[in-house]
Amino acid sequence: MRVPPGVTSQDFSTALEQFAKAIGREWVFTSDDDVDLYRDSYSPFWHEPEEPIPSAALAPDGVEQVQAVVKIADTYKIPLWAISTGRNLAYGGSAPRLSGTVVLDLKRMGRVLEVNEPNAYALVEPGVSYFDLYRHIQDQKLKVWIDPPDPGWGSPLGNSLERGGGRTPMHDHFAQVCGLEVVLADGTVMRTGMGALPGSKTWQQYKYGFGPYVDGLFSQSNFGVVTKMGVWLMPAPEAYRETSVFVPKHDDLIPFVETLSYLTDLEVCRGTMLLESPVLAYRAAHGGSVLDMPGGPTVAETERMAEQNGLAYWSMVLRFWGPPKIIDAQWGYAKEKFSAIPGAQFKEGVYYKFPVDPNSLPPDTLKVALGIPNLSVFGLLGPTDGHMDFSPIIPMNGETVFEVLKVFGQAYADLKVPPSYQFFALPWYFFPRAFVLLFGFPITHDVEKNKKTREVFKHMIEVAAAHGWGEYRTHTAFMDTVSGVYSYNNHALHRLHETIKDAVDPNGILSPGKSGIWPKRMRKTTA
Ligand code: ADP
Repeated sequence: MRVPPGVTSQDFSTALEQFAKAIGREWVFTSDDDVDLYRDSYSPFWHEPEEPIPSAALAPDGVEQVQAVVKIADTYKIPLWAISTGRNLAYGGSAPRLSGTVVLDLKRMGRVLEVNEPNAYALVEPGVSYFDLYRHIQDQKLKVWIDPPDPGWGSPLGNSLERGGGRTPMHDHFAQVCGLEVVLADGTVMRTGMGALPGSKTWQQYKYGFGPYVDGLFSQSNFGVVTKMGVWLMPAPEAYRETSVFVPKHDDLIPFVETLSYLTDLEVCRGTMLLESPVLAYRAAHGGSVLDMPGGPTVAETERMAEQNGLAYWSMVLRFWGPPKIIDAQWGYAKEKFSAIPGAQFKEGVYYKFPVDPNSLPPDTLKVALGIPNLSVFGLLGPTDGHMDFSPIIPMNGETVFEVLKVFGQAYADLKVPPSYQFFALPWYFFPRAFVLLFGFPITHDVEKNKKTREVFKHMIEVAAAHGWGEYRTHTAFMDTVSGVYSYNNHALHRLHETIKDAVDPNGILSPGKSGIWPKRMRKTTA
């Protein structure tokens, strides 16, 4: 049996006995077979000693059991890694950052505590998956939508804490969080926002409560174990329409993104959007790259390619949710604005008036945009052993997109890796006001390939940082590196994170290493 670092076998055995008393022996997992289930199935360290492997897993049910577990762990300085449904694939899955950590699996806490239709919110426990919440709402025939990520098997709580996103107007998941219940490292239960007022009637309706707003301290963090979360839902819209915009020339991207920015800031266009390039996709499919590789085709050559093949240079699918009168007007206004770009073209897509039977939707429907969780994204990825996402935030303007294509094209050339070494998407409008890039790097069971991928990944983080672009989230394997580039004023933010960590978790038991935050006793000198 593995033992957490710094803990004696005897203390660990005593603690396991106490855990068993607190939560039931059948919910304490120590066999290799059981513990293996918590390894990261997309680990970039397959077959290498660096792969973080848990020593055990615990599955408490209920906040009192979580408190009991945390208190025992605090007594014996046993590191715990909290997960909700553990589907954080591409960013570490259910595996901890540090080998020997005990996984605190909260999937048994799977109760939908409330769904309020008139005020469009839910209160959920960590183990509630998007599928569970969707089914609950369907069964109760409530007129609210959830916003599932693709894929939809994770949990609103885990995904929101990681600041993930979906596709509907509620796409920025952490922004929809309203009220948390948290177990702190000493076992104290705390409620944030209006939840701090005993008998509060607005825990899920007003985020800020009184005094410093602390909810953000529990996202991408290791300051507490979240046991309940309020989440805002979308009132079920009357209608939905999908449309597309195309512009012909390379330089059209500048007014294209300016217009998009104006329309999204005004909330005329909402939801997640992906910038696409029919001609760059064509170029990549014919032996070239989406990226601008040194010595690759020039802009003029690519524009000729676009013209010869009847392809737009840039395009985007726009989606609208709401009453027909309003979404028709929004689309009309968006068209008017994009029409200022010479040669802009528009295409009408599907238009649904609800209710629509989900079983009647065409197979290529982007169901997550209709609030329906599913796993079809795995079909799009094809047969791989997994992937790891590199996802820097970049400014929302056309000039930066041009720069990104050049900078990462050059980085690929410098590292002598083919651009096909990743599946790269052009920028997403995934969070308000900025773009995010999503590079999916392949994970394999080939040690040498994974070593190369890690080298490329690290280089990309550094190249991005040198241009002022930083990741919004990263795989556990790169948390120290990413945290290291957020280094303004001699790592002032990181040092604040450490100060808070030392204050709220002095024995350093909660998720050591999460987001590069290590407890004092495990801290190396900051990069
Ligand atoms: P999901 O299955 O919803 O995608 P996970 O359960 O894998 O999400 O959680 C993603 C990450 O979020 C975890 O690795 C952990 O760092 C953090 N996390 C998840 N649930 C909690 C929780 N209840 N309390 C604190 N942190 C959590």
